[in-house]
Amino acid sequence: MIVMKFGGSSVANDEQMQKVLNIVNLIDGKRVIVLSACKGITDLLEHIAIKAKDGDTTAVNQITEEITARHTDVIKQSLNKQCNAAIDDINQYITQLTRILNGVSFLGELSLAAMDSIYSFGELLSTTVFYHLCKERNVNCEWKDARLLITTDSNYSSANPISELYVNKLNETIRSSTADVIITQGFIASNENGRTTTLGRGGSDLTASLIGAAINADEIQIWTDVDGVLTADPNKCDDTIPIEFLSYKEVKDLSFWGAKVLHPQTIMPAIECNNIVKVLNTNNPTAKGTTITAVPPENKFTINSIIGKQNCHLLGIMSNHLNIPSSLPVLRIGYSNYVYNVLLDDNEEVAEFVKNLNRSEVTLDTTASAILLAGQNLLNEPIRLTKFIATTAQLLGDIKLRQLLCFSDNSIILVVEKCDIDPIIRSIHKVIVRKQY
Ligand code: ADP
Ligand code: ASP
Ligand code: MG
Repeated sequence: MIVMKFGGSSVANDEQMQKVLNIVNLIDGKRVIVLSACKGITDLLEHIAIKAKDGDTTAVNQITEEITARHTDVIKQSLNKQCNAAIDDINQYITQLTRILNGVSFLGELSLAAMDSIYSFGELLSTTVFYHLCKERNVNCEWKDARLLITTDSNYSSANPISELYVNKLNETIRSSTADVIITQGFIASNENGRTTTLGRGGSDLTASLIGAAINADEIQIWTDVDGVLTADPNKCDDTIPIEFLSYKEVKDLSFWGAKVLHPQTIMPAIECNNIVKVLNTNNPTAKGTTITAVPPENKFTINSIIGKQNCHLLGIMSNHLNIPSSLPVLRIGYSNYVYNVLLDDNEEVAEFVKNLNRSEVTLDTTASAILLAGQNLLNEPIRLTKFIATTAQLLGDIKLRQLLCFSDNSIILVVEKCDIDPIIRSIHKVIVRKQY
């Protein structure tokens, strides 16, 4: 069994949905299809919820019409015999959405729980359209409500899945289905009381991975709009190339540091179950994509990719029992000579934590920027590694290197003084792509 997740741009419109169906149809055997909302719809739902809270009925009506039209347009362009049934389903969802928005307007209040219910319509609508498209083409398919498949805690807007509560049920539901293609929603789930929750923006990747792990899928495929995980963010560097093989560890770091291509927790369930994860391009399905496994086949020194964080906080803390609150966005903790080096993603909570530290234990306290280089077998070839670091240090020019943090076989972190890191990322990236080390 395989799980195939298609992101918002992959199901943006009629043409994209057809591409998705063609890709799904190329594969034999049982497939679980996880879809995001059509591109831009989740943002529109966020927008409409705020307008409802503000009592702006004109905007609410206008956005409702836009959301309805986006889905009915796809239906009218691609469906014939399923057209009426699909339009009926869409209208029912729009009626339910309107009811919730009226409630928000009436109260003048938008709770995270209400926002999650409103968000859920994006994925409910896209999967409904796709289900009817599959039916139209006589695919043996079934539509499943993801809220009945995945159970989370009640941490609305960023809920945590509770595997003990859903894995067996999910596995049984999928395995007992006689459909070849099981269609469900990414991003949405429900708590123990059946209230809708969401896994955080971009969470459909995580849904695919949770399902893949629960059913022990042969492969979890994440279909998106680029040729795989790239050597850097293509919006920052224009000469990026796809990376054919990546390790779980590299992907964990890259997504946690903000590489948008995967939700930060996507890889965690796959690690536990040792699932193969592939990142593929819906617009270029024959491209190799990126294959992510525990140990990639090429066992040699490589620096694969780069990502930066503009605003960080670097702390040196002398302590024998470091107690960092779990809510803090810790990027990495290193340890040397009885001093913990802690790199934090800067925010207000971090500022508060820093303010309250026992100053006699603080050996270093500085705002900084940081660059993460992810690769493989970095410790096996010390001469190449030293050469790479020397080249990189040169590229920093006048920018001061504060620390080389936490060397491991898979990552190097350069902490530099706070600066505009994009130009540095671009020049280090050139070295990586051209393998000049
Ligand atoms: P989807 O809608 O399919 O989930 P996303 O927009 O969430 O797609 O993620 C894909 C986007 O991630 C790409 O279009 C690209 O702009 C961005 N991105 C940022 N960093 C990387 C990276 N290292 N590799 C690939 N894509 C990246
Ligand atoms: N539709 C949700 C979002 O836009 C989830 C996802 O696309 O992964 O964040
Ligand atoms: Mg995404």
